[in-house]
Amino acid sequence: MNSDLIEQLSEQLHSREKKNLFRRRLALESPQDVHVSIDGREYLAFCSNDYLGLANDPRLIEAVCKGARRYGAGAGASHLVSGHSSAHHALEETLARFTGLPRALLFSTGYMANAGVVTALMGRGDAIFCDKLNHASLNDAVLLSRAQFSRYPHLDLAALERQLAVSHARRKLVLTDAVFSMDGDIAPAARLLELCEKYDAWLMLDDAHGFGVLGPRGRGTMALFDIRSPRIIYMATLGKAAGVFGAFVAAQPEIIETLIQQARSYIYTTAAPPLLSHTLLKSMELIEKEEWRRERLVQLAAALKHELRSLRWRLLPSATPIQPLIVGGNDQTMEISEALRNGGILVPAIRPPTVAQGTARLRISLSASHTMGDIARLGEALRELDRNA
Ligand code: PMP
Repeated sequence: MNSDLIEQLSEQLHSREKKNLFRRRLALESPQDVHVSIDGREYLAFCSNDYLGLANDPRLIEAVCKGARRYGAGAGASHLVSGHSSAHHALEETLARFTGLPRALLFSTGYMANAGVVTALMGRGDAIFCDKLNHASLNDAVLLSRAQFSRYPHLDLAALERQLAVSHARRKLVLTDAVFSMDGDIAPAARLLELCEKYDAWLMLDDAHGFGVLGPRGRGTMALFDIRSPRIIYMATLGKAAGVFGAFVAAQPEIIETLIQQARSYIYTTAAPPLLSHTLLKSMELIEKEEWRRERLVQLAAALKHELRSLRWRLLPSATPIQPLIVGGNDQTMEISEALRNGGILVPAIRPPTVAQGTARLRISLSASHTMGDIARLGEALRELDRNA
């Protein structure tokens, strides 16, 4: 019986490998940064979500050390028992102020935040309306909630409106990535909010990739569109632009209190180490203060578009640090990614099922720590591959 199971798994793994869908991990020997070391070799990397270049900032490393001395290594308990520390609390207050929403609640990861919010607020008899390109964690959260799952074509607000108009669900929730993680485009949050007002629905924005990057002072997609509403449930992660780890949800006090009482991925898990919250307080200061990081990202994206303008492969139109270069086939995408790697440049190949069949791509992600010289080097390498393809 047991050996049958192993055989089945082995076949599945081989079949993945044959379709060029097998995933392999890299083991970094250096901190996350634009130059990373793997197996003793240094690479120029365009892979991480460390958009502001904070993950290896000396001021954050110092904060980690101070946080560890003050709070120890681990939280030791869940938030509702004795794991909630004054560092978590102070960060929640800072995040509420920063987003302009009344209250915020920390979760250990974005995946857990999405699962916690959707399952605590929605259930059988409710309906959730999702963009087709939403992040996997949102889709999993919807399935877990047992609410009715409706998907609309990417950014197709007319289709969304038709679905909302015919729904008789008790509660309705429109759920969307604010910045789409594999495409880099931005959801039309103001128009989505109008639809939610018209059809009495909640709007949940997953701003994992916009927080710290978009809008004045990096306040995110809500600030970019200058929208405010008690209907908005805002989620963002703290392991990307903020450079550390974790996530939070900001919303009306009644929603946050409901999450504390009912969100299972909040209640039944150990609180993240308080030293991380202590460090994130420093990140928040840097995010607000160091506007040059966001300005640099805009300049780098413009330079990248210029460098890649004549390639046969096209960049998707994106005003964010996520700049996907669509190649199409899995094999060719892998070949390009591997050839770049042989030349000392890391750019991840993203393949189905993460993206739709036939749209395999290189997900070029920019960091404020990149230089114009780094962009020129990537441009030259891709042009060379294009000439020889
Ligand atoms: N939402 C989106 C849009 C994401 O891209 C991610 C992470 N890639 C998450 C949620 C999950 O966040 P975390 O990594 O903190 O679990």
